Amino acid sequence: MKNEQAELIADTAERSALRDAARRFAANEIASQVAEYDRAERFPLEIVRQAAGLGWLGAVIEPEFGGTGLDWVSFATLIEEISRVCHVVGLALSLPSGLVGAGILEYGTEEQKRRWITPLLRGETFAGAGVTEPGSGTDVANMATTCRRDGESYVINGAKAWISMLDIGDWFITFATLDRRLGREGVCAFVVPRDAPGLTLRPYKNKLGFRPLATGDLVLDDVRVGAENRIGEEGQGYAVAMAAVETGRLSVAARAVGLGQACIDASTAYARQRRVMGQPIGRFQLVQSMITDMVLGVEAARYFVARLAACKDRGVPRPRRDASLAKLQATEAAMSAATSAVQIHGAYGVSEEYPVARYFRDAKVFQIIEGNNQLHRAMVAEYALGFRGHSHA
Ligand SMILES: Cc1cc2nc3c(=O)[nH]c(=O)nc-3n(C[C@H](O)[C@H](O)[C@H](O)COP(=O)(O)OP(=O)(O)OC[C@H]3O[C@@H](n4cnc5c(N)ncnc54)[C@H](O)[C@@H]3O)c2cc1C
Repeated sequence: MKNEQAELIADTAERSALRDAARRFAANEIASQVAEYDRAERFPLEIVRQAAGLGWLGAVIEPEFGGTGLDWVSFATLIEEISRVCHVVGLALSLPSGLVGAGILEYGTEEQKRRWITPLLRGETFAGAGVTEPGSGTDVANMATTCRRDGESYVINGAKAWISMLDIGDWFITFATLDRRLGREGVCAFVVPRDAPGLTLRPYKNKLGFRPLATGDLVLDDVRVGAENRIGEEGQGYAVAMAAVETGRLSVAARAVGLGQACIDASTAYARQRRVMGQPIGRFQLVQSMITDMVLGVEAARYFVARLAACKDRGVPRPRRDASLAKLQATEAAMSAATSAVQIHGAYGVSEEYPVARYFRDAKVFQIIEGNNQLHRAMVAEYALGFRGHSHA
C-alpha cells in the first residue's frame, strides 16, 4: 500500500468520533426496531429522517448542494457501522451520493443538482433508480425501454423490474434508448416524478431478503417528461447509469462489511454462552475455525473497501478494479460469515429469535446486486490477464 493511501485510511480523531456516533445511533435508534420492520416489510422512514438531521444522508456531497463534505473513507466507516445493525438504513444514507444521485452529481446541471439532490439530503424527499429491466439486468445497454423527443419533452415507454423505493420514492432516475441499434450511444437518463401520468408502480411482496425495501416493477406507458428532466446529453445515459452503479459499489461493499461484522458479533457472543457436552461451543476448534474464516474474510474486505474509498478521495476517475475487488470480497465474506453464523447458532439460527437468519437472507442478495459476483470475478481476472486496459493497483 502506498503511504498516502495508508494515511487516508487511518482512523483519524474525527473518523473515530464519527464511528462512535454511528454506533450509538444504531444501538439506540435502530437495534430495537429492525426485526419488526424487516418482518413487516416497512421502510424505516423516521430513522432515516433522523439520520438526515445529523447530516448523514449522502454526507460526501459538497456543502453547496446541502451535503456535509465528508471524505469517502469516513463515509464508508459510517455506512459500515450503521449496516452492522441495519444495512437498509446504510443503503438509504448512500443513495443520494450513490445509485440515485451519483449520475446527477456528475452529469447534471447546477439547477438539476439543487432541484433533485438537495431535498434528498434533508430527508424531505426520497428517490429510487430504475436501471434493471425484465429482460436485461447485468446487460444494461441492452435495455428495451424507449424514448422519443416530442418538442420540448420526451415520451418514454417500457418497463423496469426490481426497482427499490417504490413505496416512498418521490421520483426515479431511469433510462431509455432513442434507438436500440445504437447500443450504449442511444441511452438517455431521465428524472421521472412519481406522479407522472402513465407511470405505474407495482411492488413485489415477501422477498427473500432486503424486505424493508419496496422493490418491484416501474412501468412507463407514454410517460412524458420535460427536456429539463434529462440528465446529461442525449446518448450520455449509459455513462450516467455507470457513474451511479460504480459509486453504488462502494456502498454495497461497506454494507456487506457491516453485515459480516454483525455475523461475527452474534456468533462470538453465542459461542461463548451456548454449552454443549459440558463446555461453551466456542471451545470446539471446528467452531473456532469458522470464526477465524469470518474474521479473515471481513477484515480483508474492510481493507478493500477503505482502499476503494481512498481512491475516490484521491480523485481516481474510475477505480473499477478496486470497486470489483471490494464488492466481490465484501459480499462473498458476508455470505460465508452469514452461513457460518447460522451454523454456529444451530436450530436457533433458523429462528427469528436471533438476527442471523436475516443476515443470511440479506447476504445472498448482496451477491446478486450492483453487478453480480460472477461479473466481478471475470473483471478481476481480465485486469490480471491484461485484457482490460486501465488497472489501478
Ligand atoms: C432486493 C433487490 C433490489 C434491487 N434494487 C434495484 C434497484 O433499485 N434498481 C435497479 O435498477 N435494479 C435493482 N435490482 C436489480 C439488480 O440490480 C439485478 O438483479 C442485477 O443487476 C442482476 O440482474 P438480473 O437479476 O437480471 O440477472 P442476470 O443479468 O439475468 O444474471 C443472472 C445470473 O447470470 C450470471 N451472469 C450474468 N452475467 C454474467 C457474466 N457477465 N459473467 C458470468 N456470469 C454472469 C450470474 O450468476 C447472474 O446472477 C434489485 C435486485 C434485488 C434482488
